[in-house]
Amino acid sequence: MIATISQLIIGITDLAAAFLFLYGLKRMSSPVTAPSGIFVAGIGMLVAIVASFLYVFGVSAAAKPFLPVNIGLALVALVIGGGAAWWSGKKVAMTSMPQMVALYNGMGGGAAGAIAAVELFGGKAQGATPLVVTLIGALIGAISLSGSLIAWAKLDGVIKKPLRFSGQQAVNAVVMLATVAIGGYIVFVALSGAAPVLAVSTLIYLFFGVALLFGILMTLPIGGADMPVVISIYNAATGLAVGLEGLVLQNPALMIAGMVVGAAGTLLTLLMAKAMNRSVANVIFTNFGETTKHSHGSIKGSLKPTAAGDAGIFMRYAAKVIIVPGYGLAVAQGQQKLYEFVKLLQAAGVEVKFAIHPVAGRMPGQMDVLLAEAGVPYDLIFQLEDINDDFADTDVALVIGANDVVNPAARDDKSSPIFGMPILNADKAKKVYVVKRGEGKGYAGIVNALFYADNCEMVYGDAQAVLVKMIEAVRGLGLSAAA
Ligand code: NAP
Repeated sequence: MIATISQLIIGITDLAAAFLFLYGLKRMSSPVTAPSGIFVAGIGMLVAIVASFLYVFGVSAAAKPFLPVNIGLALVALVIGGGAAWWSGKKVAMTSMPQMVALYNGMGGGAAGAIAAVELFGGKAQGATPLVVTLIGALIGAISLSGSLIAWAKLDGVIKKPLRFSGQQAVNAVVMLATVAIGGYIVFVALSGAAPVLAVSTLIYLFFGVALLFGILMTLPIGGADMPVVISIYNAATGLAVGLEGLVLQNPALMIAGMVVGAAGTLLTLLMAKAMNRSVANVIFTNFGETTKHSHGSIKGSLKPTAAGDAGIFMRYAAKVIIVPGYGLAVAQGQQKLYEFVKLLQAAGVEVKFAIHPVAGRMPGQMDVLLAEAGVPYDLIFQLEDINDDFADTDVALVIGANDVVNPAARDDKSSPIFGMPILNADKAKKVYVVKRGEGKGYAGIVNALFYADNCEMVYGDAQAVLVKMIEAVRGLGLSAAA
């Protein structure tokens, strides 16, 4: 009776959790409603976690003696995991967010792999379909785990360069085939009853080992600007793995959460690949972002430094200014000062807009979040396709801490590794100011011809310090912000 009632409650809470996930996701589609969307989806997760404890009422008599220990372990895991997530979420810098996403993603894959391991080692996945589904979930989960850890190491600078060697793709193919072959053999042994050449547990260890190795090998050669797409692919894969393990455990909340993450990750992957004008296969199998290939030998013109104050005053007397924020703005944490400067320009009657490139910064949406943090109104913020035609009619493009996303080589130079990536047409503005600390390259590691163009001047310095000087210069003219 209690088991039946708990089953009913589990069903209802799973439905509620699914609704909250989907509703939360829907709210995340706009920057205005996104914070509450994340909160709603978090409540959904809490509901699903609480519901999973109700499964204790349905356990078999044989499993009952283990209940106190298992519940205790689950609670300890919840406290450690929840505490670590709370602490790291609170203290993470905006610029380190991609690494954190990669880490959490890997943990999701690892969790799916761990569920599969319990099923496989415990011999619970019986019959062809459950066994195959468990193995596929294990494979994808293990690849997501090791691949995401490598992605984290690359983004965090622990691994500094892509590791490439000749015949790498052939090696990867062999490792992948070996994983599939071991998995196939495990299924064959289980279904046919034939004596295995190695103990089944050894085969399972081997299967996981080779799958983990594949994740490492697949991610090591991928470099440069492709990391966001890779993380998004692993995000989709993690969702799929979790969904498959939900199927094995017959746990609807896991199935739904996995499917939602899988679908969202797949869409994000496709959108980002489109923003870089690359196919997903091209991202995984070609070596992009090599820093050595491009020198500035073919670029004409010179770098023309100018003072921050002069640039600020020039913009004060312009009619239209478009600001292109990039990764450097996040590094400098210059968003508050930037908005202060914008308010000064607006008070002087200048029309100011922000142009956001879909892969500006180091994670999708990073610039939107940064500007939202500073309180920049959403109606000043425009995405690439909505603003690109406006540059030609603009007095000043202020490129602040951005580089690759305004590199005209993507448009004009077929030999460039970023050729074909849509860029913001900052170079088409009448005048361009680029704020950066020195001659550092962008993420793709290539020289930017825009900086040498006749209409471009360089304002060297940390973005926040430069903005302080611009504000002082404009204030010195006797104007103050409207608000
Ligand atoms: P970027 O090409 O990486 O260029 C950033 C520039 O900011 C650098 O050239 C650097 O030059 C400057 N900078 C760094 N710190 C600064 C500071 N404190 N003050 C002022 N300037 C500073 O950035 P982006 O134009 O935003 O392009 C993003 C790139 O990252 C793309 O290639 C994209 O594909 C890739 N990516 C994107 C994501 C994503 O999801 N958004 C994730 C990973 C990678 P100095 O050193 O001379 O200052």
